[in-house]
Amino acid sequence: MKIIRTPEAMQKHALDLKRTGRSIGGVPTMGFLHEGHVSLMRLARAQCDVLVVSIFVNPTQFGPNEDLKTYPRDFSRDESLCEQAGVDLLFYPEPTAMYAADASSWIDEASLSGGLCGATRPGHFRGVCTVVAKLFNLMQLDIAVFGEKDAQQLRIIERMVRDLNFPVNILRGPIVREPDGLAMSSRNKYLSAEQREAALCLRRSLDNVEEQFAAGERNTAVLRQTVVDWIASVPGAELDYIEVVDDRSLAAVETIESDTLVALAVKFGAVRLIDNAVLCRSP
Ligand code: AMP
Repeated sequence: MKIIRTPEAMQKHALDLKRTGRSIGGVPTMGFLHEGHVSLMRLARAQCDVLVVSIFVNPTQFGPNEDLKTYPRDFSRDESLCEQAGVDLLFYPEPTAMYAADASSWIDEASLSGGLCGATRPGHFRGVCTVVAKLFNLMQLDIAVFGEKDAQQLRIIERMVRDLNFPVNILRGPIVREPDGLAMSSRNKYLSAEQREAALCLRRSLDNVEEQFAAGERNTAVLRQTVVDWIASVPGAELDYIEVVDDRSLAAVETIESDTLVALAVKFGAVRLIDNAVLCRSP
């Protein structure tokens, strides 16, 4: 596995590979890798000649009071996980190498980014879209895999790729969970034993919504209220949002009639976790 540390070397290497006719698949990540990331690497591995993983804790997607400084990092562990997963190239740039000090160009997706995580993390998706576009340019990906865990991010990236004609095929990777249902996340490391137990409320409240939906409930106010009440009963859990939105437009839905995304974010002290489920997925 080759490790590349500069954007220039990454782009040159990728362009050289493309000239030899090889397809490049990639998984952009912020590192501190877990089985969720590895599942995306497997998906990509099966569909490309050369597999590239990037590890970059992107400063432009963190707000001023967010966890950029404390975001977990462990490069040597990540390196061996990538090696085991059959990664050919690991792109691991310095933050200062990715953005010029006077960088002033941004990609702003203007429709899907406003609600859900965008409402409580202003500017977050502008940072995400900008860094993903830069990574596409540097890694020259034919396919890129993103996880359903970050459902809004995935839909925004698909929209950006469509709107701006990026020549990359986006694949969706299912959410990978711990045996007890907690969605894997690099941030789970920061949960205390009590918070780890409390964090099960995300999956459990989604289970509850799915059960009510299966029993015929279509009124989203009723579904949301169940989650509000559920989370309020969990010690140490603070609901950031629970939204029930159209799966394509991410606009709020009152009565469920088509594919619908249920997404929530919950804080446990300084740790903010997200999870989601899709109701009524078309066959
Ligand atoms: P991150 O390192 O958190 O920025 O995530 C990098 C990629 O891994 C994103 O596409 C995430 O959606 C995806 N991802 C993170 N956690 C999971 C998970 N538990 N299951 C599937 N994909 C995930």
